[in-house]
Amino acid sequence: MLSVVFDGQMRVEPDYPRPRRGEGESLIRVTLAGICNTDLEIAAGYMGFRGVPGHEFVGVVQESDDPSLHGQRVVGEINCGCGRCPDCFAGLERHCPQRSVLGILGRDGVFAEYTVLPDRNLHLVPSELEDVAAVFVEPVAAAFEILEQVHLLPTSRVIVLGDGKLGLLIAQVLAMAGCELVLLGHHLPKLEIARGLGIDARLSEQAPSARADVVVECTGSARGLAQAISLVRPRGTLVLKTTVTDKLELDLAPLVIDEITVVGSRCGPFAPALRALARGEIQVGPFVTEQHDLADAARAFDLARQPEALKVLLRP
Ligand SMILES: [Zn+2]
Ligand SMILES: [Zn+2]
Repeated sequence: MLSVVFDGQMRVEPDYPRPRRGEGESLIRVTLAGICNTDLEIAAGYMGFRGVPGHEFVGVVQESDDPSLHGQRVVGEINCGCGRCPDCFAGLERHCPQRSVLGILGRDGVFAEYTVLPDRNLHLVPSELEDVAAVFVEPVAAAFEILEQVHLLPTSRVIVLGDGKLGLLIAQVLAMAGCELVLLGHHLPKLEIARGLGIDARLSEQAPSARADVVVECTGSARGLAQAISLVRPRGTLVLKTTVTDKLELDLAPLVIDEITVVGSRCGPFAPALRALARGEIQVGPFVTEQHDLADAARAFDLARQPEALKVLLRP
C-alpha cells in the first residue's frame, strides 16, 4: 500500500506492506488524516519512532471480528494498552507501561491507505459529522482532557498560551465552562480566526495584568513554559500540553515560591469530543489550511511546518 514512512527521513513508500490485524482488532481504510505538531516532532526525532507516522484520522472498517463494525465510519483512540496489567485494569490504558501508541510508539500509524487498531479503541462517527470535522476528534479529546483534570469554575480566569491548532481547540473547549478566557499568541491571522470564534485573542505582549487562576501552555515550543509560569497566580494551576524533542533548562523556583500546581496533560476522552463536534459546539472549519494526496506528503509536511499553517490534511 501507499504509505508515508519515517526511518530517520520522512519519505513516501509505494509498496509498504499492509498491516495485519490481530485478534480483537480491525483493519481500517483511512479516508482522511491530519498532520499534527507531534508528527513534525517525530520527523525531528521525537520518541525515536520508526515506521508509519500519523495518529489523527477518520476511516472505514474494512475487516473485523465484530460484524457490527463492518463498513462503519470510525475514529480511534491512539493508546493501545496490554489489557492485562494493573494500569489497564484500573482503566488507565493510556498509561500502560507496555502500551503502543498509534504512529508514535511501537505501532504503525495512519499516513497510509490502511491502519489497524483494537476494536475497543474505535468510536462510530455520527452521520451528521463530516470527515473534515471528524478528523479533529483526537486533538479535541486532548482539549477535553483538561476538563477531566482541572476543576474550572465559571468564575475562573484562564489564559491559553499558544495560538496553534491545539490552542484554538482548547480555548473553545474551556470556554464552554463559562470562564473568563484569554488566548495569547504571536500570529495575527490565527488570532483573527480565534476572534471569529468569539474568543478574546491577543498578542502575548497584551497579556492581562492580573495573573490567571489556570494557564494552559500549548505553544509547541520549549520557550513557552517560562512565560506560562509568569502568567499563573500564586496557588494557581499550570497545565502543560507541549511535547517537544528539545530539552530545556528552567528555573523552577517560581513554582515553589508561588505554590503552583503543575498538571501534565496528554490524550483525552473521545466521546465528549465527538458530541461537541457533532453539535457544532466546537468549530474546526476555519482551521483546515489545505488537503493533499498522500503521495504529496512531503509538500504537505513542508506546508504544515510554516508558522502560518493550521491543519494540513492528507487524503490516502
Ligand atoms: Zn495529534
Ligand atoms: Zn497494560
